[in-house]
Amino acid sequence: MDTTANAHEKLRLDELRSYRVLDTQAEQAYDDVVMLASYICDTPIALISLIDEDRQWFKARLGVSEMETPRGQAFCAHAITDPERVMEVPDAREDQRFANNPLVTGNPGIRFYAGAPLLTPSGAALGTVCVIDRVPRKLTERQTAALQALSRQVVQLLALRRSHAEMELINRAQTLRQQQLEAHQHRIEELNMELQEQTLTDPLTALKNRRAFDSLLANEFARSLRSKSPLCLLMVDADHFKAYNDAYGHVAGDQALVFFALAVKSQCRAYDHVARYGGEEFCVILPDTQLKDALVVAERIRVAVKSMVGLARSMTTSVGVAYSEGLTSPKRLVELADRAMYLAKQGGRDRVEVFAPSQG
Ligand code: GH3
Ligand code: MG
Ligand code: MG
Repeated sequence: MDTTANAHEKLRLDELRSYRVLDTQAEQAYDDVVMLASYICDTPIALISLIDEDRQWFKARLGVSEMETPRGQAFCAHAITDPERVMEVPDAREDQRFANNPLVTGNPGIRFYAGAPLLTPSGAALGTVCVIDRVPRKLTERQTAALQALSRQVVQLLALRRSHAEMELINRAQTLRQQQLEAHQHRIEELNMELQEQTLTDPLTALKNRRAFDSLLANEFARSLRSKSPLCLLMVDADHFKAYNDAYGHVAGDQALVFFALAVKSQCRAYDHVARYGGEEFCVILPDTQLKDALVVAERIRVAVKSMVGLARSMTTSVGVAYSEGLTSPKRLVELADRAMYLAKQGGRDRVEVFAPSQG
């Protein structure tokens, strides 16, 4: 083959492969075509033959059992060289191209052959729809035309098959993109939640921060008013913490605050809100809690702080307790807890105090 013919053949093979039909399973639509070809042309053998690089492979076959034969023996390989026409060989023994072909001299003993090339819109001849007989004969004009019509139908089937495969690829790519998008969205939501969490969390103690405290207290206060349920607030301040810092350094002070936070939290219920109000001051919101019960929690916190181990030296805390009954704002509740805590400081620290509204 010269260079142009080589290039042409390469394009033809590329196109054949693009249909991804070689070595696929038998399919009814193609089997129907060879059955019709055999009926119409009245031959014992009919094939849809695709001319691959070194072989002809049968997508559908009637009257032969082989799946493929070498390209060198293929009548169809000759038929595709003139793709616009049906190639007809009335008697292969009389045709010098085929007289010595093993398919003529041996099995299946081909005498008659007619092949209509499978011509694609881009001009490539992929193979043929062909009919074969063991006796010499000729097709009528109508049979020839019908064979050509069948070859056009096969080209349509192949085109459909390729678009279907392309659609599936597109669908798969789309599904993949969709999944990636969903994964990204999920990650963004997670990051948003983490970020939201960070804006509400104190980085040193991992407790709620002041911002979270303000909003939680507003909610709990409103709920307590609505449902007429009791609400208490504790203000828990580390005693002489400046001295601790001065004596052992800021890092040890930080560590002590972490232990302090754990000690406070360890005495609270799951639905109480423990927050770092600022510096060495912590707040505990106690929903659904009467004053006498809040005093018990406050006392437990005082003891827990005093019992902490692993510090440079032992610590104590002053706890102010306030009760929301009769109050109209959460701000007032904080003020009362703060004043109670101040009373505890004045009283000598390491103690729990309540500030009654009647006291001022
Ligand atoms: P009082 O018993 O009256 O509460 O005395 P105090 O020393 O605890 O109170 P003061 O308000 O004088 O000092 C609070 C100290 O807490 C001073 C400040 O350096 C320290 N502090 C506040 N926040 C932090 C922190 O995040 N880490 C450390 N290491 N120290 C802190
Ligand atoms: Mg203090
Ligand atoms: Mg303080």
